Amino acid sequence: MTSWQNMAERMVREQIAARGIRSEGVLKAMMSVPRHLFLPPSLEESAWIDSPLPIGEDQTISQPYIVAKMTELLSPEEGEEILEIGTGSGYQSAVLAAMGARVTSLERIRTLAESSGKALAGLGCAVKVLWSDGTEGGRPEGPFHGVLVTAAAPELEEWWSEVLLPGGRLVVPLSVASGGQRMLLRVKIRGKNYDDTWHDYCRFVPLLKGRRGQETEE
Ligand code: SAH
Repeated sequence: MTSWQNMAERMVREQIAARGIRSEGVLKAMMSVPRHLFLPPSLEESAWIDSPLPIGEDQTISQPYIVAKMTELLSPEEGEEILEIGTGSGYQSAVLAAMGARVTSLERIRTLAESSGKALAGLGCAVKVLWSDGTEGGRPEGPFHGVLVTAAAPELEEWWSEVLLPGGRLVVPLSVASGGQRMLLRVKIRGKNYDDTWHDYCRFVPLLKGRRGQETEE
């Protein structure tokens, strides 16, 4: 039987390196994370295909190439503080953690925050998952070296840029007129000075306001 490491190696070679991702850190991290453990058991066998997959609650785990591209744009370094908005399955957080980043990840749907938190803890990943709204509702103190938004944003929230350190990066799929989204990489020079560049077109599930789920009963 083919082990998952072989599947991961093949995914990285055929879907990611072949499409021009060069960052050694990203390629290595994506070979080392067991993507199948972030999926519902019935979909484990499909984990390595070139596509997003459903994870319940009408949400998806992103296509492997998209995870790789967003991570390459963010370029996290060992020991850096990274904020993710949209934990979903937890797979993207695990890739960031595998690169040595210290990750805080916000998820608005309670059941997903819980299941991804469990999957990440089970693998010993250094990720703090919070059931929180990453738009106006749940601004963490920061500062961060990087902010990665993994849901389609209609517009930029100001605080995503404000919590960045000088030299910090914000990566976000921003809605464009044609219907999908385009990845924006914003590098903070200092203060309100930014260097913005546009990258791949993509299609994420929407960023929505407010939390969903029941409060814990005492
Ligand atoms: N990074 C994820 C992709 C998840 S899909 C992965 O690797 O699997 C996007 C996720 O963003 C969904 O789980 C959705 O519930 C969440 N989301 C949408 N709007 C949000 C918001 N305002 N705050 C936090 N999470 C949000």
